[in-house]
Amino acid sequence: MADYDFDLFVIGAGSGGVRASRVAAAHGARVAVAEEYRVGGTCVIRGCVPKKLLVYGAHFAEDLADARRFGWKVPTCDFDWTTLRDNVLAEVKRIEGAYGTTLASNNVETILGRAIVTGPNSVRVGETDYTAAKILIATGATPDVPAIPGAELGITSNEVFDLPSLPKRILIAGAGYIANEFAGIFQQFGAHVTLVNRTDVILRQYERQIVERLLAISMAKGIEFKFNTTMEKIERLESGALKVVFAGGAEPVETDMVLFATGRRPNTKGLGLEAAGIQLDDHGAIPVDADSKTVADSVYAVGDVTNRVQLTPVAIREGHAFADSVFGNKPWRVDYGCIPSAVFSHPPLAGVGLTEEQARLSLGSCKTYTADFRAMKNVLAGRNERALYKMVVHPETDVVLGIHMIGPDSPEILQAAAVAVKAKLTKQQFDETVALHPSMAEELVLMR
Ligand code: NDP
Repeated sequence: MADYDFDLFVIGAGSGGVRASRVAAAHGARVAVAEEYRVGGTCVIRGCVPKKLLVYGAHFAEDLADARRFGWKVPTCDFDWTTLRDNVLAEVKRIEGAYGTTLASNNVETILGRAIVTGPNSVRVGETDYTAAKILIATGATPDVPAIPGAELGITSNEVFDLPSLPKRILIAGAGYIANEFAGIFQQFGAHVTLVNRTDVILRQYERQIVERLLAISMAKGIEFKFNTTMEKIERLESGALKVVFAGGAEPVETDMVLFATGRRPNTKGLGLEAAGIQLDDHGAIPVDADSKTVADSVYAVGDVTNRVQLTPVAIREGHAFADSVFGNKPWRVDYGCIPSAVFSHPPLAGVGLTEEQARLSLGSCKTYTADFRAMKNVLAGRNERALYKMVVHPETDVVLGIHMIGPDSPEILQAAAVAVKAKLTKQQFDETVALHPSMAEELVLMR
């Protein structure tokens, strides 16, 4: 490997790239990582981290209202967007710095600039060419915006964290993760939210009963849904507002902001992969094998750019497995079974394993158990918002195949439950576990 400038050249300092760089360097590899924007990638800079902080910020709207029922004399509270925005952006900057420090302390050379692949063992950043024994592509994904007239008048999750002010009305296109999370955030901040989707399915991959509960709660909070509606164009009105026109003659909507949350596509445009003999798949993703290796022996790819599972912890594992396997003499592969995930909507929902529909499709039948309850906190607060937990169980073996939930703190509760599902525990073993009272999580061992 000594004939090359580096043992490993990583393109993209996001979750997968940083983990791979750090671990490979710790195994003794000479590593460089190129980043065209900011160290930390989507998750840290304009994804999971600032989003979660906004979710916390937004939740105070309900917490402050509920506090009065708990005896607190809460005066009328004003919300100042710029304070929250600036504090969140400062926290993001801090984490970005910590990532940079981690790379530096592991002797990873960070090169700021856009890298392109120029061959199976070479990359170019600006005017400088580098050679490397291995190249890892970890460039992530980018918002996919439908090509309609006026689309440039809308924003995406790339811009949403930097808004100079909050809109009074927002139209969100899409009904997946980002749409539902930001619908909750903006609604709590007092905006009128209209969510528009081309089908009548929201959060396609989640358990239907749980998603239906989110829909009912969101509607009760005042979020408006327009289903089976396709956006045709966006126009700027003289007043400065936006007019969104739909196909089929549906009534246009006037709004102050349009947020596109219509999926993310792999960041592969102009990367030069053809120079290494790599063809993209139909979604523009880099095809890889179970070891994250492309058709070129020296080129690997991890994370969203491979379009396997677009989740940060998965990218991190893929990066770690790559570095251990290729540079640490400790080969292992990512196990994609039972990956827990959550939507940080208001309230949040989370799930792991098979949904009822998936279980019925693969096994013909399954047993289901539910707990439909009002969290104690919500009862006293007079908040008529019910949580729902659902367990999907194998009809013969009693093994728990999936757990799905919506309600306060459900992502926190689900992470622990996911260990049990991954370990293939049975419903009987859940039942044998004594409840922790009073908690919401105790419903997991009390389901009938
Ligand atoms: P999602 O894939 O979750 O949802 C996309 C939505 O947009 C769907 O409702 C889909 O409709 C609709 N859609 C897709 N293409 C078009 C189109 N061309 N025109 C109109 N509508 C369209 O994407 P997001 O953008 O919300 O998020 C991207 C990814 O980021 C997620 O898949 C997830 O992996 C990750 N993410 C994870 C989060 C988390 O873990 N909490 C948070 C945020 C993002 P339909 O389904 O009806 O076809």
